[in-house]
Amino acid sequence: MSQPAEPFSATGRCLCGQVSWGVTGRLPPVGFCHCSQCRRVSGTGSNAVLSVKADRLVWLSGETALKAYALPSGWSTTFCETCGCPTPHLGPHGRWFVPAGSLDDQPDLAIAGHIFVADKPGWAVIGDEAPRFPAWPPKA
Ligand SMILES: [Zn+2]
Ligand SMILES: [Zn+2]
Repeated sequence: MSQPAEPFSATGRCLCGQVSWGVTGRLPPVGFCHCSQCRRVSGTGSNAVLSVKADRLVWLSGETALKAYALPSGWSTTFCETCGCPTPHLGPHGRWFVPAGSLDDQPDLAIAGHIFVADKPGWAVIGDEAPRFPAWPPKA
């Protein structure tokens, strides 16, 4: 466990509590991905993650309990070896994908938008007005 240079804006943990983490800085908006991989990892119609800069996440406990699973395509996920709960996952662009549903005290978060909406099942209903994209969002 390392000490953050500033207070945490949010903390989170896995279901069994073995793995926990903190995030510093302003919390980014939550983004939803409705692709088949994210649906399987979350068990529902989409995942919900915050994209956090690499140096803004601090592991508080359980870093040795993290397991990763990668598909041949390179798509991968990280989870707790004991309870299987998705945990922050370092994405290909050096940012953490932090599961929004595992944050403590449910901070108020803006919504960034929805990607891979073309893969969304009909029973998963989007209830916000944030931008929606059939697959990846257009490059900024
Ligand atoms: Zn766990
Ligand atoms: Zn996805």
